[in-house]
Amino acid sequence: MAEMIPHWLTKQADLAPDQTAIELTDGTTYTFLELKEKSQSFARKLRGLGVQKGSKVGILSGNHIDMVVAIHALTYLEAVAVMLNTRLTKQELNYQLNDAEVELVLAQNNGEELVAAIATFTEVRNVHEQQGELCTEINLDAGFTIIYTSGTTGFPKGVVHTYGNHWWSAVGSMLNLGLNKQDKWLGAVPMFHVSGLSILLRSVIYGIPVYMLETYDKNLFHEALMYKGVTIASVVTVMLKDLINQLGDDRYPDTLRCLLLGGGPAPEALLEEAKARQLPVFQSYGMTETSSQIVTLSPGKALAKIGSSGKPLFPARLKINAFPGEVGEILVKGPMVTNGYFNNDKATQKAIQDGWLATGDLGYIDQEGFLYVVDRRKDLIISGGENIYPTEIEKALTMLDGIREIGVVGKADEKWGEIPVAFVVADDPAVSADDISAFAGNHLAGYKIPKEIYFVDELPRNASNKLVRIKLQNYLIDNDFQSH
Ligand code: ATP
Ligand code: MG
Repeated sequence: MAEMIPHWLTKQADLAPDQTAIELTDGTTYTFLELKEKSQSFARKLRGLGVQKGSKVGILSGNHIDMVVAIHALTYLEAVAVMLNTRLTKQELNYQLNDAEVELVLAQNNGEELVAAIATFTEVRNVHEQQGELCTEINLDAGFTIIYTSGTTGFPKGVVHTYGNHWWSAVGSMLNLGLNKQDKWLGAVPMFHVSGLSILLRSVIYGIPVYMLETYDKNLFHEALMYKGVTIASVVTVMLKDLINQLGDDRYPDTLRCLLLGGGPAPEALLEEAKARQLPVFQSYGMTETSSQIVTLSPGKALAKIGSSGKPLFPARLKINAFPGEVGEILVKGPMVTNGYFNNDKATQKAIQDGWLATGDLGYIDQEGFLYVVDRRKDLIISGGENIYPTEIEKALTMLDGIREIGVVGKADEKWGEIPVAFVVADDPAVSADDISAFAGNHLAGYKIPKEIYFVDELPRNASNKLVRIKLQNYLIDNDFQSH
C-alpha cells in the first residue's frame, strides 16, 4: 500500500498558523496559514486551466513568493513540478520541456515562446477557481518534482524526485543539524535547483521561516546574516568568498549556526580562512539525484577534517568502488536518492543498481569514515600511468595571486598518453606562464604541472555556472590557441 502522510503544508498551517513561513528582503512576511490559503486558491485556478494529477507543469521563475505558491499549489493537485533554470537558452529550455513532456509552463514573466503553453503567475491568478477536492494527504511514493542535472558531463537528465525523497532529505538534514525553535534558513540560492527547493520544503516540514533573496546579491546576503536573525544558510563557494570579504574584521551573531556549503569542490585555503574566522561552515556533498546533500561534515570535525565532505546523513549509506582508503567511484544509497531519470531507463539502469547510485564522482574514505571527493570520473587524466585529478591542480593554482580561475584538462600525448594542460583567466596581465609553472612546481608533483598553459578571457560554464571541461577539450581540437 502507498505510504501516506498528512499534507505537509495543511498540517503546518494547522500546527503553527501564525508562524512565518516566508520572509522577503522588503520586510513582507507570509505565515503558514497564508501560504496554505494562497496555494490552495492557486491550485483551484490551475485546475481551471486543466492541470490535474500527474500533469507535468514547468516552473520558470527566479525566487519569488508566486513561485513558492505555485510549487505548493501543484502538491494539492498531485501534479509534477518541472523546475526550470532561468539561465537556460531557449533551445536548452525546449529540450527539457520536450523531454519532460511538459504541458504548461508557469512563468514569472512573459518571455519568449516555447514548445509548451505558457501562463504567467499573474495570468493564473486572474483565472476563476474551479471547486473540487484538493489533496489532504501526500503519497510519499508519488513523483513530485523533475529537476534536470546541470549537464556538466553530457546532456542534462531529468531526475524524478518523489515526495518521499524530499521528505527523507529534510529529515536526514535535521537529524544532522538539529532543529531549534528560532531557526530561520536563508534561501539565497535559486529555488529551481534542488539545493534551493529543499530549503522551501524543510521550512514546511520543520515549521521554520525561509528568509528568501529574490536574486543573489552579496550586500543583501551579508545583511541577512548580520541583521535578520538567520541561523542557517545554504551557500556555494563564491558566496562564502563574498561573505568573508564583506565581513572584514566583524563577526556574525552567534545565532548563525550553520553555513551549509555545497554544489562543488571548495579550495582548502578558503576553508582554512573560514575556519580562522570561526565561520560555522559545514562542507557537504550531494547532487540533483540525491535531493541535495547526502554527505555532510559536522562542525565538530570541520577543523580536523578540512577538505572532507563528512559522513553520510543518518538515513544514507556510502561506499567506494575500490580497496579501502583508495580512490574509486562514490556510490550512495538511501531514501533521498531518486528512483531514476524521467523516460530514460538506459541511464537509470546504468546509474542505479540494487538501490546504489553510482555518482560518477571519484573519492576515498579515510580510516575514520570521512569522505573526500576528488573529481569526476570522466575528468580523470592518466599520464604515464599516474592518475591526475584536474580539480587538485585547479585548486592549487588558483592560490597564485593574479589568477582568477583556471580549468585543467588532459590532452592526448604520444609519449605520456595524456598530459595536463591549463586554461587560465588572469586578473593581472603581468602573470606569465612561467610564473604559473614555477608556482605549480612548488605545490604539485612534477607530472601534475600543466605542460601547456593557455590564457583565455573566460572559462566555459553551463547555466549552473559549472565548468564544462569537455568544451575545453574541444578548444584544444578546434581552436588555434596561443600556447605560452
Ligand atoms: P551532469 O550530471 O548533468 O553532468 P552535474 O553533475 O554537474 O551535471 P548537479 O547534480 O547539479 O549536476 O551536480 C552534482 C555534482 O556536483 C556532483 O556529482 C559532484 O561532481 C559535484 N559536487 C557536489 N558537491 C561536491 C563536493 N563537496 N565536492 C566536489 N564536488 C561536488
Ligand atoms: Mg551529475
